[in-house]
Amino acid sequence: MESQNELLRSLPKIDECILWLESVMDEYVPHRIIKECVQKVIDRERKSILAGEKQHLVIKSRGDWEKLFIQSIRKKMTANFRRVINGTGVIVHTNLGRSLLPDAALEALGMVGGYYSNLEFDLETGRRGSRYSLVEDLICELTGAESAIVVNNNAAAVLLVLDTLAKGTEVIVSRGQLVEIGGSFRIPDVMAKSGADLVEVGATNRTHLHDYEQAITERTSMLLKVHTSNFRMIGFTSEVSGEDLSALAKKHGLVTMEDLGSGSLLDLSPYGLEKEPTVQEAVKAGIDVVTFSGDKLLGGPQAGVIVGSREVIGKVKKNPLNRALRIDKFTLAALETILRYYYDTNNALESIPTLKMLTEHPDIIKERAEAITGKIRNDLSGQCDVTIGATVSKVGGGAMPECKLASWAVELQPKTMSISMMEKSFRQLRMPIIGRVESEKFLLDARTIQDREISELADLIRDFFRTDVIENA
Ligand SMILES: *Cc1c(COP(=O)(O)O)cnc(C)c1O
Repeated sequence: MESQNELLRSLPKIDECILWLESVMDEYVPHRIIKECVQKVIDRERKSILAGEKQHLVIKSRGDWEKLFIQSIRKKMTANFRRVINGTGVIVHTNLGRSLLPDAALEALGMVGGYYSNLEFDLETGRRGSRYSLVEDLICELTGAESAIVVNNNAAAVLLVLDTLAKGTEVIVSRGQLVEIGGSFRIPDVMAKSGADLVEVGATNRTHLHDYEQAITERTSMLLKVHTSNFRMIGFTSEVSGEDLSALAKKHGLVTMEDLGSGSLLDLSPYGLEKEPTVQEAVKAGIDVVTFSGDKLLGGPQAGVIVGSREVIGKVKKNPLNRALRIDKFTLAALETILRYYYDTNNALESIPTLKMLTEHPDIIKERAEAITGKIRNDLSGQCDVTIGATVSKVGGGAMPECKLASWAVELQPKTMSISMMEKSFRQLRMPIIGRVESEKFLLDARTIQDREISELADLIRDFFRTDVIENA
């Protein structure tokens, strides 16, 4: 064992390491990053020698140092915001980016990102145009609404509408609909921010039309309905329909608003999913203004869509807050592409990834799971049991919380490490793989794995076990 002084003397010279690394790195790395990483690694070593940590009591070879430097540089050069493989089976996974966009939408993003566009330029008149007009007619055609506007997300949509129509007045909401959506969006809080006074009516489980009617005062401006996206009440419950609510509002000269949350344009119940209220139904029921998300069941980019009567949307468009919440050009480009698919239901189901994953037949998912296991099973024998098994996927995004979709998963049972170790290591791969741990198995639900990820996923898993053996040797 070397003495501390000897070890300290053996630490390489920073400048020499930088020169040497610059000559061996096969990809471009900015000088300041190499310098920072070399300094960091050597400092760390010096500290641990001084602290007498055991693993540092041998002199490192040039190869050892190179490995440490390169590891540190790689980490620094990797983007923080990265692609991952979603094996969780949660389709609209808010933490993993909610909806995936089809290729045509990705092309649209590239087009408006890399070239100039008519974002706010009217090609007919040659004058300034409105970004909202690019999608307004399309949204109206699909939903049956008179008018529409889009903003940053649905939370912004709710805030903007309440701020426009209800500031300084009372808004009546059923107690059973005062929802909290993940990420700290609570209807009572948004209401407070918009300067409207919330008036709760009904009991938690039941609200009747007369509850709303009795709560109307001369300060009331709005009757609000909120879709309880992420929870369900069962048993002795009742809610007032959109039709009844809007008839009551008309009688008293009030406006009605519905926060639909997911905002589906299609009834997916024929595919074994829960019946979600559609935007068209809310509009048809006579609700004056309806808001919904762009990236939940619609399957598009993050956005908040507001549809309603010409009069109400006209006021919303004039609210200065609108400018602060406005939608950007990338979102608009992707949103228009997605909406156009809805002209043809089958095309929408086939081309919009969220809808495709929601409605995919278990047999097809099983084939995908088999394709993955087929590529890895032989190579992993001895190190990991590879099987497939039935599982259930979830919709996610706070939509259809009770819905369990029959699916198939690749099941991995490692023999050389614990399941929790495997789960953690998979998250930290150069291409992170996110799965679920269930009854001592690591599961990758094939429903949320894309066809074009199959080979890549198999390679990642094979490489993982290969390097694991070497490192354990
Ligand atoms: C998801 C949701 C929101 C928030 O929508 P974002 O697009 O995430 O801002 C608001 N209200 C309801 C009912 C929701 O389900």
